[in-house]
Amino acid sequence: MDRRDVGREIANRIERAREAGLTPVILLDLDGTLFDNAPRSRAILRDAVLARFGPVNPFAELVTEVCAGELEYDPIDSLRRAGLDDEDAALALREEWARRFFRSDYLDRDTAQAGAIDVVRAWRAAGARLVYLTGRDAPEMEPGTRASLLGAGFPLDAAAELRLRPHDHPDDVSFKCDVARELLDEGPIVAIVENDPRVLNALADLLPEAVPALMPTGAPASAPPPAARVVLLRGFADLLVAPV
Ligand SMILES: [Mg+2]
Repeated sequence: MDRRDVGREIANRIERAREAGLTPVILLDLDGTLFDNAPRSRAILRDAVLARFGPVNPFAELVTEVCAGELEYDPIDSLRRAGLDDEDAALALREEWARRFFRSDYLDRDTAQAGAIDVVRAWRAAGARLVYLTGRDAPEMEPGTRASLLGAGFPLDAAAELRLRPHDHPDDVSFKCDVARELLDEGPIVAIVENDPRVLNALADLLPEAVPALMPTGAPASAPPPAARVVLLRGFADLLVAPV
């Protein structure tokens, strides 16, 4: 499907499901999809370098420089690319960054991606049920996630629910596939919006009737290329439907 048709196609699928008396479901990833995590990642990187190496340390300047630019999916890779060649320090910073990133404390730094709130509200107004489906750890990250969704202006209620990965669930891909299988009994899943091709390819395989849409915000270095039928978005503007 062409990127230029994807907003209209999803709107049509929502409408057809509603006309058939069904509740269409849309799966929405959070990190790197609805939210830009770069402000959180920058704040954590600055605090991580202080926590590990103290106020006077050889890495502070590099961190400041890297935080002024675009961060890679793993911000420690950005530090390496900018010249961090002390691998022990890199691993220590990665550990400290991850310890802080996967908790609620810094989630208020996340900002909604441009256009995300308009798209989500339009789908909801059209009668879709929204499921925020995230690999964020429950219960550790649930309070901060609820607060940041509401703070950003995303709906959160019976028709717009949050599903976080249980702490003992092994990985994001199988967690999201498990939830998708469960939701299929409740209504057709018409679209999936994700930034990680590992997850999106698996969900696209499982849900041949859904439109899989990939946000171009970066993915793990180990991620495969997106499957052939995945729609490559430039951003949420591609999902907005202009009034006719
Ligand atoms: Mg993501």
